[in-house]
Amino acid sequence: MVRGAMTAQDIFPGPSRGVVSHPESSSRASASSAPPPKEDKQQVQRDFFVAMPNLLQARLQLDEFPMSLRNALHFIAATEMPAPGVPQGEEPLLPPRKNGEDRLTLVLDLDETLVHCRTEAISDVRHNFCVRFEESQATGWIYVRPFARLFLEIVARLFEVVVFTASSRSYADQVLDVIDPEGRCISKRLYRQHCTEVQGGFVKDMGRLGRSLEHVILVDNSPVSLAICPDNGVIVSCWTAEQHHDRELVDLLLLLQQCMQYQSVPDYLAHRYSLRAFIDELRSWPELLGDA
Ligand SMILES: [Mg+2]
Repeated sequence: MVRGAMTAQDIFPGPSRGVVSHPESSSRASASSAPPPKEDKQQVQRDFFVAMPNLLQARLQLDEFPMSLRNALHFIAATEMPAPGVPQGEEPLLPPRKNGEDRLTLVLDLDETLVHCRTEAISDVRHNFCVRFEESQATGWIYVRPFARLFLEIVARLFEVVVFTASSRSYADQVLDVIDPEGRCISKRLYRQHCTEVQGGFVKDMGRLGRSLEHVILVDNSPVSLAICPDNGVIVSCWTAEQHHDRELVDLLLLLQQCMQYQSVPDYLAHRYSLRAFIDELRSWPELLGDA
């Protein structure tokens, strides 16, 4: 944690889903030297979320996961992913770092991570603002996830913040122009054309950013987005506007504070979630997922 910085508990008092704290989390310790976190073996997990236990230790009920997540996992298990990196002859997606800039790069998904968009207003939930879809001229009703604006203000002080969406530029810019009107929080916006298309799926390759993978965190509600660099990824729960009491971004802030204390983001996140090892297990035993 940055010395003197407030903690997430100071800013958001109240219950969280309990990010598993790391027993040796002081002063950028080596993640590999720490014992694995203790988990509640009794709780059966039916979704992905920031505070979830390590995936190799959790009791996962994969056949009860939401259908969209099961489809995503089937896709990942059956699809060979390219190695991360900037394709030959192309420029990195981010401009070079400024001199002296040593903050981690935090890459945030947009839809169902920070906002939720509906093409029809929800009758009993107040929307935050509207957007216009260029192609269809339809209206999109935008709902902003609880704590999203405050979350952006805080992470902008601690990280180089990038929003990376698989949505179109015209839609995303309308949303981001409202949630970060002066461009103070988000230093770069990446859109669908910056994704790596693999067998029809849009994957976010952190190797194309032009940053060391040791210093990049990708936050997304879809495991497909993380499939090229799973140990750079944090899967947040999929948020829709009906979830008024959602505190996932508070839990995420706690997790990010822990992440900042390690030299290597993938070492820490592999230790914390084992997402790459979990995907390898699904590839070896796809029957774990049940029917598609
Ligand atoms: Mg999303």
